[in-house]
Amino acid sequence: MSDTSLHCQRCRRGLAGRQSYTFRARGGSDGLRKCARCAVRHWPMLRRSLIASAVVGTALTALNQGDVILAGQLTGALAWKIPLTYCVPFLVATYGALSNNRS
Ligand SMILES: [Zn+2]
Repeated sequence: MSDTSLHCQRCRRGLAGRQSYTFRARGGSDGLRKCARCAVRHWPMLRRSLIASAVVGTALTALNQGDVILAGQLTGALAWKIPLTYCVPFLVATYGALSNNRS
């Protein structure tokens, strides 16, 4: 029996001296420990961040650009702000999840 706490449970990379992240595993078993590279690709966390991005990004876009969009006056100078508006809550939610799951 090997000690899985010293290795990333996805890529098997050694975690000694490296930052690791522990995510809740399905079925109530011990947490799933991952290296930083695997943690940023942890699908349940990304899914939650995408949902937060969709909800908060849509609300912020409506608040900040809604009048211009509804008036049909959206220009290229403003259009680039919309994807950035969605990126902010995605990054905040992802950063928060990683901070909370740091081991
Ligand atoms: Zn890994």
